Amino acid sequence: MSKQINVTIWNEFRHEKSNEIVKKLYPQGMHKAIADGISADDLNIRLASLDDPEHGLTEEVVNSTDVLLWWGHCHHGDVKDEIVKRVHKRVLEGMGLIVLHSGHFSKIFKAVMGTNCSLKWREVGEKMRLWNIEPSHPIAQGIGEYFELKNEEMYGERFDIPQDGKIIFISWFEGGEVFRSGVAFERGHGKVFYFSPGHETYPTYYDKNVLKVIGNAVRWAKPLIYQEHTAPNAKPLEAIRTPNPHTVSAGIVQDVDGNTKK
Ligand code: ZN
Repeated sequence: MSKQINVTIWNEFRHEKSNEIVKKLYPQGMHKAIADGISADDLNIRLASLDDPEHGLTEEVVNSTDVLLWWGHCHHGDVKDEIVKRVHKRVLEGMGLIVLHSGHFSKIFKAVMGTNCSLKWREVGEKMRLWNIEPSHPIAQGIGEYFELKNEEMYGERFDIPQDGKIIFISWFEGGEVFRSGVAFERGHGKVFYFSPGHETYPTYYDKNVLKVIGNAVRWAKPLIYQEHTAPNAKPLEAIRTPNPHTVSAGIVQDVDGNTKK
């Protein structure tokens, strides 16, 4: 069997402790529901949350994670900047990142996007219809032309994200708004996917289509390489015969390999 994908599902995990509706829906947390829902032989899944030491994202955990999922909402500000830096660095080196729902305002999503990531919202439990507009994309496999969630929070445009993402899902809400609900990006060597459904008071993370998309996204975001970012000074591959005007005027002789001597 080929190597498993090491998945870490990070959840703020506070609503589940403080809100009765959420506690009842997700007694062990949304991260556990997602883990159970996408569980498969090719995935090795760990859970992490805000109140764990180092938010459950120690160097060791981050460096052994292939794909990190992120759900946060009211406590983005409690996530330590040094942990965000650690995760961001790893994304640029190759780790996949899947940001869910209200994670749009997380420090890590803003860092990888470089924009405000703001949007419009309304929480009345209206119907959401997600249109699959990129059926050939790996993330859209097994999903029909569209699927619906009976109750969701409305997230509407304008969503302040960069334009270099590939839009996989566009959603429509009963109240009339539309939203780019599934967008795939590349940052450094890492792949990033934002997927909008997942308000904590609805059973969204039990929906088979939502889980299918998340599972597909994990496999799509799996790193093909890890590479640290360096900025090396490079020897030329071919002889450079053009005299360097700066070294010539300074009386410095430069050989074809770029080595200099007075
Ligand atoms: Zn929400």
